[in-house]
Amino acid sequence: MSDPYSWLEPALATIHRASWYRSVNAITSRPGPIVLLNGQPVLNFASNDYLGLAGDDRLIQAAIAATQEYGTGSTGSRLISGHRELHRELERAIASWKQTEDAIVFSSGYLANLGTISALVGKRDLILADQYNHSSLKNGAILSGATLFNYAHCNLEQVRQLLSQYRSQYRRCLILTDSIFSMDGDLCPLPELLDLAVEFNSMLLVDEAHATGVLGATGSGSVEHFGCTGRPLVQMGTLSKALGSLGGYVAGSAALIDFLRNRAASWIYTTGLSPADTAAALEAIRIIHQEPQRRTQLWQNVHHLISRLTPHFPADGNVPTSRSPLPLPSPTRTLLPSPSPILCLQVDAPGTVLAIGQALQKAGIFVSVVRPPTVPTSRLRITVMATHELSHLEQLAEGLSQISID
Ligand SMILES: *Cc1c(COP(=O)(O)O)cnc(C)c1O
Repeated sequence: MSDPYSWLEPALATIHRASWYRSVNAITSRPGPIVLLNGQPVLNFASNDYLGLAGDDRLIQAAIAATQEYGTGSTGSRLISGHRELHRELERAIASWKQTEDAIVFSSGYLANLGTISALVGKRDLILADQYNHSSLKNGAILSGATLFNYAHCNLEQVRQLLSQYRSQYRRCLILTDSIFSMDGDLCPLPELLDLAVEFNSMLLVDEAHATGVLGATGSGSVEHFGCTGRPLVQMGTLSKALGSLGGYVAGSAALIDFLRNRAASWIYTTGLSPADTAAALEAIRIIHQEPQRRTQLWQNVHHLISRLTPHFPADGNVPTSRSPLPLPSPTRTLLPSPSPILCLQVDAPGTVLAIGQALQKAGIFVSVVRPPTVPTSRLRITVMATHELSHLEQLAEGLSQISID
């Protein structure tokens, strides 16, 4: 008898040989700047909890109160029995923060992208997407059935060229981009992309997953940071990073949001966000408004860490983009330039980066190791939090300076 699953073991062996194998690590404490990793206390530079809200007592209390009032599950899809006034309150708070007419919350950011992209465009339409976009944007584009062109990272000339060449052959066009790129930490040229979108009668979806709570005068994201508030955009983001909860959102015009409520399958046919997650996100937005000093502290921490690391890892002029497929010139450990709390230290080989990550972990420092196929070149991904103390940053700088030489 042949075994239709016999290919699994050899496939896993191939993954191991490439040093691409992944497994989970258990955090055995509350989230924060210091966590227990498999029981061992480590400095945490591996979360997306930029403002340190995921372990905040006020979010926990809000989640408990909502659970006591409404139960653990929302019991159905939003259009049937899963809607609570709490959801609407959160949607209004997001819309008001983003200064858009309306907003809609999904059960995750991933689902927000899948549902929104596939609702907005289809077979007769065109998608232009940054090559380094998040997996949820890439898979949303595939799901939609639209014709897809990936443009070189942040390359406006290529966007213009593709629009000039192809826009007229398609019904609608949607441009997709991360604002802060999740695995590189750099920022898209949003105003220029918007100008191109307007010029070529195209929609633009900006994924603010890592910018919400982080960028802009009120922390509402890159749209605010770039002075693009009020311009025609589909603004997407997540409740699971700086907001410390779970869920995704889209903010935009009333017509856009009403359309998504009627056409986004990943919103219509999935269970509504749990009362606990909804209430925690709402509390996070309240705290972000009330405590702008969290964001100030985050940026102070980012700038301090960059100034400490730069001498050890000089930026190399020969590496034009963060994911240059060319063999890296010496030094092979380069700190990628970053205007965000995501700092990436590019390391030549997946095996080496893994060893460095493990050595840091032994020294009590937890950073994420990101390897192909998530990214083309392996790197340490270091994320800064508002709640890191100066001594935490110093310990990280010290630990990393060791690896710059060996
Ligand atoms: C994390 C992330 C998402 C998905 O958000 P979830 O709420 O975690 O599903 C989408 N886009 C980007 C850029 C992300 O980093």
